[in-house]
Amino acid sequence: MAENISFFQRINEYFDKAAKFTDYPQGLLEQIKICNSSCHFTFPIKRDDGTIQTIHGWRAEHSHHKLPTKGGIRYSMLVNEDEIMALAALMTYKCALVDLPYGGAKGGIKLNRKDYSESELERITRRYTYELIQKNYIGPGIDVPAPDYGTGENEMSWILDTYLSMSPDKLDAIACVTGKPIEQNGIKGRKEATGRGVVFGLEEACSFEDDMKQVGLQPGLRGKTVVIQGFGKVGYPASKYLNEAEAKVIGIAEADGAIYSPKGLDIESISAYRDETGSIRNFPDATFIENPNDILEMECDILVPAALENQITAENAPRIKARIIAEAANGPTTTKAHEILKKRGAMIIPDTFLNAGGVTVSYFEWLRNLSHVGFGRLGRRYEESAYNAMVHFIEQATGYQFSDDERQTVHGADETDLVNSGLQDTMINAYQEIRETRFKYGRDIVDSRTAAYINAIHTIAQSYMQLGIFP
Ligand code: NAD
Repeated sequence: MAENISFFQRINEYFDKAAKFTDYPQGLLEQIKICNSSCHFTFPIKRDDGTIQTIHGWRAEHSHHKLPTKGGIRYSMLVNEDEIMALAALMTYKCALVDLPYGGAKGGIKLNRKDYSESELERITRRYTYELIQKNYIGPGIDVPAPDYGTGENEMSWILDTYLSMSPDKLDAIACVTGKPIEQNGIKGRKEATGRGVVFGLEEACSFEDDMKQVGLQPGLRGKTVVIQGFGKVGYPASKYLNEAEAKVIGIAEADGAIYSPKGLDIESISAYRDETGSIRNFPDATFIENPNDILEMECDILVPAALENQITAENAPRIKARIIAEAANGPTTTKAHEILKKRGAMIIPDTFLNAGGVTVSYFEWLRNLSHVGFGRLGRRYEESAYNAMVHFIEQATGYQFSDDERQTVHGADETDLVNSGLQDTMINAYQEIRETRFKYGRDIVDSRTAAYINAIHTIAQSYMQLGIFP
């Protein structure tokens, strides 16, 4: 089966399918769907060996219905304009779905970070930021980047520093980028947020008995076997929290091979082994599989693609046995693969919902930066005193003495508690809304992906109407 449509065309197909369930004017739907602006720029860098190389960078702001726009920056050899526009569009729908006040954006540089030294990456990132500033594609109220595939806290701190150095008097300049290191105005929990959100989302999706019955599984994550593709900023924490939730991660695929153990993998040991050797290849307590794609076809309950787009295709979908496909990556399943999996009765938890934890906690970071005060700073001590007083009254009234462990659970919420609570609440609410939409139109007619797009379209259309643009 040929699958010769581009990534952005695929997102637009999903949009069109969902739009049929709404009655907004065609012009409004077109405006929501189209990419509002994008730019491609090139710049030279001097490599460590003295040679000059031309670097290609992009930033797309898919929707200006809310400002700032928000979305990560990706470093990969696959980056091109179509990919960046598709990922920016996904950000628009994701933000609308989890009710964040942002339009969607995405940026990227075409490079394989393994080919560059740290100082070369720093020069490239700073020059990329300079280009964004020149073109008005970055700013706390304009467009706020974050980490994505191939980038992390280091890149975000170079972006921040470059932006700050060019706007010395802007009070809110620290909110120009999220996913920053904690010491540089980042927020606790952002690093793990997408993976944690994936597990909160999965927990909710697996909690409904009738939904689980449809895929032949028991409710809850406990005991479910999981295979994860990609052990990066999303895949690693997702696998850790899945094991903590008593699911069993039995396979992990990386770009250079996969590891498999039916008795379950020890995530922290694998992470330590990878830090030491640079790879998960030949991790001692597991079977090594040379072709990482083979593991996607292993017997398991949940398959979590957490690497790149177009990984589950019409070619391999017929051999995929997982009952649940949990799209932690953006766009991992092609349209034809989606149809094949759906026909076989698999449950697909869509990317627009499942990986929204990252941008949700980025939102908390941005709010923290704009308010210039850490969450919990004002109320924590007060709450703790109130809880302690309550414990004391209960002890006096009942004669019961709380143990030290019981007392430990009574504390004022700190930043980590608040971030995780906000993240969990967001994922639960968004899933319940998706499920309600499915029931509204008929579960057999509308799948979760289409329902997610329907919900996003309603939210964005309402914003346009509030702006008075489309009365
Ligand atoms: P990352 O660069 O931290 O990790 C990706 C990992 O996938 C790397 O370890 C890489 O070696 C591995 N990989 C690449 N090709 C592979 C292959 N063919 N098979 C197996 N492994 C392979 O990137 P990330 O931030 O974890 O992003 C992963 C996905 O999640 C992307 O689609 C990204 O857009 C999406 N996402 C990320 C975030 C975030 O906060 N980082 C938020 C939402 C969505």
